[in-house]
Amino acid sequence: MSKRLFLITVDCDLRVDATGLRQETLEQLLAVFDGSGVSGHVTWFLNENDFQLTRYHKSFLDEAIRRGDTLGLHDHLDKMKRPLNKETVKQYCQASKRRVEDFLKKRKVGRKILFHRNGCFLQEATVYAALRELGYTVCSDIYPGMAGLDHHGNIAYDNRLIPEGIRPYRHDEENYSSYFTRIRVAPIREGQGGWKPFVGHFLQVPVGYLSLKINFERVKRWLAISETVEFSCPNQTPGDFPSLFTWCFHPYEIVEEAGKRISREKVNLISQQLEVLHNQYQFTFVSLEQAVKRCEAFLPNQT
Ligand SMILES: [Zn+2]
Repeated sequence: MSKRLFLITVDCDLRVDATGLRQETLEQLLAVFDGSGVSGHVTWFLNENDFQLTRYHKSFLDEAIRRGDTLGLHDHLDKMKRPLNKETVKQYCQASKRRVEDFLKKRKVGRKILFHRNGCFLQEATVYAALRELGYTVCSDIYPGMAGLDHHGNIAYDNRLIPEGIRPYRHDEENYSSYFTRIRVAPIREGQGGWKPFVGHFLQVPVGYLSLKINFERVKRWLAISETVEFSCPNQTPGDFPSLFTWCFHPYEIVEEAGKRISREKVNLISQQLEVLHNQYQFTFVSLEQAVKRCEAFLPNQT
């Protein structure tokens, strides 16, 4: 199997006015992914709190489920008062998770919701603590080399010191940016103990690129670093731990500037890019669920 895995992740913030056009963006994406042969290998992060996909976009969800795409939740906490309060965050994120779980239950889909991405890649110990209590185990918020604000001007993340090309890693609430996560283990007998690498509740799958039009220079650089340096687990991780590149964009990015209709050009760009990624870069497309399975062979949860 290819050692280069590519994750298409769509953050379902449906930021266009008309519900009909919102639905159309989702349908267009389903169609273009099907045409590119990646059905079942896509990840949808649902912003259920702001856009109620379980109410207004049922047919989209049904189709994504039928294909076996991965469903995760995408909660934007931009409007929430600072400093964030764990219970408030938990309540907010619980509401969206419950609605999606109820939707799956009604359709007798026995899937657990384990995947989460914070709005604007927000990274805060309080938020991870809430997500942990809600049963989330896989996050995808770290954006190496970048820093950003949320839509309300709050600092969302600062990952400027995290190198490009890193592979998924484990972390807990506080140490989300420690891609070299290690804990000190007290020796029970003489000669034992020491540093134990890569433990943590969450599996973090870093984001490679954000935006519809992929920066291929970054993809090239990412692969070059990833395939040269073994960041993940020196001495413990076998050399065949795949390189992962996670692409993130939004359904509204295929809408024309005026926000009234879908741009054919932008839809075509998606299939062209996927073709280049497959043919020139030898990527295999995987859903987050599939990627996690590959990673767990190398990063078993030791907690
Ligand atoms: Zn978002």
